[in-house]
Amino acid sequence: YGRGPVPHAQVRVDLAAIRDNVAELSVRVGRAEVMMVVKADAYGHGLVPAARAAQAGGATWLGTAVLAEALTLRAAGVTGRLMAWLSSPGERWADALAADVDVSASAPWAVAEIAAAARDTGRVARLHLKVDTGLGRSGVPVSGWPELVDTALKAQAEGLVEVVGLWSHLACADEPEHPANDSQLAVFLEAVAQARRHGARPEVVHLANSAATLTMPDSHLDLVRVGLAAYGLSPMPAVVSPADVGLRPAMSVRARLALVKRVPAGHGVSYGHLYVTDRESTLGLVPLGYADGVPRHGSGGSAGPGAPVLVAGVTRRIAGRVCMDQFVVDLRDDDVSAGDEVVLFGDPAAGEPSAQDWAEACGTISYEIVTRFAPRLPRVYV
Ligand code: PLP
Repeated sequence: YGRGPVPHAQVRVDLAAIRDNVAELSVRVGRAEVMMVVKADAYGHGLVPAARAAQAGGATWLGTAVLAEALTLRAAGVTGRLMAWLSSPGERWADALAADVDVSASAPWAVAEIAAAARDTGRVARLHLKVDTGLGRSGVPVSGWPELVDTALKAQAEGLVEVVGLWSHLACADEPEHPANDSQLAVFLEAVAQARRHGARPEVVHLANSAATLTMPDSHLDLVRVGLAAYGLSPMPAVVSPADVGLRPAMSVRARLALVKRVPAGHGVSYGHLYVTDRESTLGLVPLGYADGVPRHGSGGSAGPGAPVLVAGVTRRIAGRVCMDQFVVDLRDDDVSAGDEVVLFGDPAAGEPSAQDWAEACGTISYEIVTRFAPRLPRVYV
């Protein structure tokens, strides 16, 4: 507490939880390798520390979306297999090759750009070819797969690239019964077989995210790409709770009450008086707001209860609108003082609200809750 530009608030990250979660997931996938997905500043947990913790737990691969994050990992001295999959025309391919970052192509033009960078720099690009098996996001459509494979194999024959991976991404893995799961797996396996017939000899074929890692063993293949589960959260909370599968949340967000005061019944709280005290009550001021990443949808009042917070062992709710830098909690008659700790979310096993509770209170998913805390909040590693 008291470190960083926002006093008395912090994002606390339990690196041992990340390490242990990765170890647990590694056991679950048997002979498949684990890629820790550390994009978006490791889902808000801190890119480099989270990557190292994952490696300590047995992750042999790291994955980011944007190249800049992969380069940051290398600049910090992080070694091991590393893949960055989201590129745009004119990407800094030469930097990727110099840093030994695996890249992905979803179209022949990307292969051409990568091959050109390899020619210019005298390096061989490690390339993963992506097929769209049904997500409709990146990846070449199935109809374009043979051309993409042949273009890449031609560049491989010229010594410019090595096709090390074939991959795809699932659309509905968080709904284990969804028919798209089996259909995407079947389309992917056929695409892999076709690429092999064309001469591809990939090191790894990979499809599974966290949800598929937990519920679709057939999808594990050579490598699973896990994000959310490794941070100790469930991508499908209605089906699997993290504790059920031996995972514990790594992130908690904590602050100290900046002010405590007694107000009479009928006192409006925060902008717009969305919340009005129904009796004489103690209000607590928390020095965190939407500029810090506390969703404004966590506000509480006439339209419904606010997001939960734990104060002095009692779960209370946000009262009134979340402001830019602060929000208020109605603490009723609790015995609290300024400076007491407030836990927004953390580990439910310790009686704290979960990121999932916050997601439900704010009408979103836990991915969005953990990734949105602002850089001005210090990350404190324990
Ligand atoms: N693979 C890709 C391509 C992704 O974009 C992501 C994240 O969205 C993941 C894997 C990891 O997903 P999850 O956090 O659900 O494990």
